[in-house]
Amino acid sequence: MVVHKFGGTSVADPVAIRRLIEIVRAARTRDGRGPAVVVSAMSGVTDGLLGVAASAGESKLEEALSRTQQIRERHIAAARELVAGPARETLHAQIDVHIDELTDIIKALSVLREVSPRTLDVVAAIGELLSSRIVAAALTCAGVPAEWIDARQAIVTNDEHTRATPLGKETNERLRSNVRPVLDGGRVPVLGGFVGATVAGHTSTLGRGGSDYSGALVGAGVDASEIQIWTDVDGMLSADPRVIKSPRLVSQLSFAEAAELVYFGAKVLHPSTILPAVERNIPVRILNSWKPDADGTLITGDGSPTRTGLTGLASKRDVTVIDITSTRMLMAYGFLRRVFEVFERFRTAVDMVTTSEVSVSVTVDDARHIDQIVEALSEFAEVSVERHMSLLCAVGDVLQDEPEIAARVVGVLEEVPLRMISQAASRRNITVVLRQADLPHAMERLHEEFFK
Ligand code: ASP
Ligand code: MG
Repeated sequence: MVVHKFGGTSVADPVAIRRLIEIVRAARTRDGRGPAVVVSAMSGVTDGLLGVAASAGESKLEEALSRTQQIRERHIAAARELVAGPARETLHAQIDVHIDELTDIIKALSVLREVSPRTLDVVAAIGELLSSRIVAAALTCAGVPAEWIDARQAIVTNDEHTRATPLGKETNERLRSNVRPVLDGGRVPVLGGFVGATVAGHTSTLGRGGSDYSGALVGAGVDASEIQIWTDVDGMLSADPRVIKSPRLVSQLSFAEAAELVYFGAKVLHPSTILPAVERNIPVRILNSWKPDADGTLITGDGSPTRTGLTGLASKRDVTVIDITSTRMLMAYGFLRRVFEVFERFRTAVDMVTTSEVSVSVTVDDARHIDQIVEALSEFAEVSVERHMSLLCAVGDVLQDEPEIAARVVGVLEEVPLRMISQAASRRNITVVLRQADLPHAMERLHEEFFK
C-alpha cells in the first residue's frame, strides 16, 4: 500500500485533478487497496490566503474580500467541473463553510489590525482543507470510493504556529485510528497536507512546503510500502538546469545524498520533511504527474546499490568567505570557540570551514550581519572578507569507497582558482569555494567528466 502526496501544481485545476484520479485509480488496481492521498493547496492558493490575511491586517477590507471571492470562485469552478449530482451541492456547501469562516476572520482582522501566528494558521490551512474536500469528492464521483479526513484530527503538533513540529506518538495514534480503518474498509483516505492541530485543538501548519512532511507522516503512520511525491518535475537532477543544459535524472540516491544536494540548492523536496519515512525505511519516490509512467527518483536509506559514480552536483551562490588569522593565537586552545561564539551571537550560520595552523576560513550565506561580525572578530584576529563567491559541491556515497574520485574532482578543476576545498568526515561530498564568475564553467567541466 502506498501513500500519494500531490503538490500544488498537481491539483491546480480540473485537468490536473483528473490526472490525479487516474494515477490513484492505477495504484488501486495494482495494489488492490489504498492509496492514502495527501494534497497541497491548489497552486498559488496558500500565497493568496496569506495575502488576504495581510490586507485584512492593514484594514484593506475591500481588497481582502475581493481576493477571498476569487479564491472561492476558483474552487467552486473546479468543483462544478469535477463533481455532479447531489454530491456537487454538498461540496459547494462545504467550500462555503471554509469561505464563510475566512470572511469572518478577515472582518475581525481588519478591525483588530493585528494578525497573530495562530490566526494566520487558521487562514493558511483553508487552502489544503478546500483542495482535499474537492479531491475526495472528485475521486468518489469518478468511481474511486474516497473519504475526506480532517487533517486537524490526524496530525498533532506543538504550538509553534506557522511552523509547528508534529508530535510523533500522538500523530501515529491518530493516523492509526482515523486513517487505517478507511484503508481497511477499501476506501481512499484524502487529507490536506501542511495542516494539523495542537493538543489543545488549535489549527496549526507545518511551515511552507509542509505537505511533503504530512505525506511522510501518513506513510509512517499507516506503514506504507512507499511514499510517492507527485510533482511537476521528473525527479532530482544531476545538476541545476539553469547552469547545465541537459542534466541527467538521478534514478536512485540515499537520503543522506539527497540531504547534501538540497542543502546546496536542489529544490525538489526538502529531505528533513521525509525523515519520518526514512527512519522507518520507507522508500520515497519523486514522480511527475504529467508523466505518470516515468520512473522518477527513488530515495532510500541505503541509496543506489551500484554506486557507479557521483550522484549529483549542487551549488550555492552569493556566499561570503571570511578569513580569520591570528598569529598571536597560534597553537592556543579556545581560539575556535571564540570565533564561533561571534557567529552565534549574530545568529549567522556557517556553511563551510577550513583551518590552517594560524587561520580559519569560513563561508556564510546570510551576509546581513557581516559588518558586526567582522568588527567583533577584529578584536582578537585579523579579518578579511570576500564576497560574490560560490560553493560547488560534488555529492556521492561513492566517495566513501573510491578515494580517487575526490582526486578526479579536484583534477578536473585544475584551471579554476579554488579558494577553499573540503571533504567532510561523512566523505559523501567534496566541496570547493570559487569565484562566482567561475561557477558555470566549473560546473560544466565536472558534469562533462562525471555525467556524460
Ligand atoms: N500549501 C503549502 C505551501 O504552499 C504547503 C505545501 O504545498 O507543501 O507552502
Ligand atoms: Mg512542495
